[in-house]
Amino acid sequence: MTTRDEEQEKCINAIRKDLIRYKKALVVACTGYGKGTVIAKIAKKATGNILVIVPKVNLVKDIANRIGLDICSIYCASLNEKKISKITVGTKQSLEKINLDSFSAVIFDEAHRYKDEFVSSIDAKYKIAMTATPFDDHGFIWERGFWPKPCYEFSIKDAIDRGYLCDYRIYGAQNAYKIESNKKKDFTGPEVKEIIKDAKIRQQAEEIILIAEKEKRKKVAILCADASHADQVAKYFKDSVTIHYKFKNSEEKIQAFKDKHRFCISVLMLSEGFDFDKIDMVVFLRPTRSTRLMIQASGRGVRKGTKDCIFLDFGDVFLYCGTPKDPIYSFIKPSEQRKKFTKQCEECFYVYMANEEKCPSCGHKNKVERNVLENLNDSVLKNEKVFKLIFNPEMFVESKKSKTNAKFCVYVHSGKKFFFFGKHFGLMLASRDAGESVIVTYKYHKGFTKVLTVEPRHP
Ligand SMILES: [Zn+2]
Repeated sequence: MTTRDEEQEKCINAIRKDLIRYKKALVVACTGYGKGTVIAKIAKKATGNILVIVPKVNLVKDIANRIGLDICSIYCASLNEKKISKITVGTKQSLEKINLDSFSAVIFDEAHRYKDEFVSSIDAKYKIAMTATPFDDHGFIWERGFWPKPCYEFSIKDAIDRGYLCDYRIYGAQNAYKIESNKKKDFTGPEVKEIIKDAKIRQQAEEIILIAEKEKRKKVAILCADASHADQVAKYFKDSVTIHYKFKNSEEKIQAFKDKHRFCISVLMLSEGFDFDKIDMVVFLRPTRSTRLMIQASGRGVRKGTKDCIFLDFGDVFLYCGTPKDPIYSFIKPSEQRKKFTKQCEECFYVYMANEEKCPSCGHKNKVERNVLENLNDSVLKNEKVFKLIFNPEMFVESKKSKTNAKFCVYVHSGKKFFFFGKHFGLMLASRDAGESVIVTYKYHKGFTKVLTVEPRHP
């Protein structure tokens, strides 16, 4: 197996070849690969000056640190630093305003973020694109025309296999949102608001704390939909910091999270340009259908500082976007990436690849195979197919009284609500009290889950 150093040399050689051939090169490398080291190595070998363009201010220091502050300078108006040297790191906004002809090579970090027109408008001899997520909503960036196909790729799977990143486990939350939409594109702001509006935040928070306790998690990053959602969620977490744009002191708060707090509640702050390798659980309280957001947010948790990381999913994110190792792209037809689809274990709620027969976590073989293909297909939801669910008595069953004083209970599973009335209600409470699971058969009826039978699991 190659060492990281040898791997980076391989990358640099591939770049060199493509620069000779095309004067441009595209590198796809995941977080944790050592992109900064590669840039530093290229700059040390190059005869001319190197410019690194990053899309956002908060990434300037991050990438400059990774290259080494002793060998690079920063050009960024917002940071009050405008120095050009052998290696210069700056934002697009600041650099657009000056003449960039003195640079022999320009490296575009997070290259998927720049339009081809901007990239081609810069007059440098060599151009290098680097990104971990080489795609947008319409396709891969080399399909746009400017960039050649990647000369070198290093995936999250490679990095986990080599031990550069730690591995992860994905679980679907019991108190997941009930999402009716089969949309493949990411939700808009109003759509997200609609999805989260009826969520029982207290129960979701209890579930997060329960799992963090059970799995002995030390640093938990919770991703919320927006600032007001984050504020509501924060009420249920004592040992936490909340970070969003309405707070000015986010640097201090990030430090406080690193030093002492267990939970960090944020909107997008942690998804990019935040380096902290001790996060061992990432909670997706924000429902998203963006594969890039899934990869970036997951990337916060797989840094090498922990043994493994847990992703707790309240929004069916991994069912629609795939996993960091096997992402699903919205612009590729489902039939062409079928093997990448995920499914969820009926027993332990572990999320795993659809082509695996048994749950890798507990060994259970699903009685009813449900995967994202069904979720994507409206007709399946509308037809009268009967499904089975194994009721887990340890999970909370809420009993209520209806307006007519009839007793019923509600059980939430995979984001779906099941209502039990009459004899079913009695059977559910009895099995909960006895700590025994039962098999519930149900079908979808007018968009609702209609319970048909409740039977003992081991008759
Ligand atoms: Zn399982």
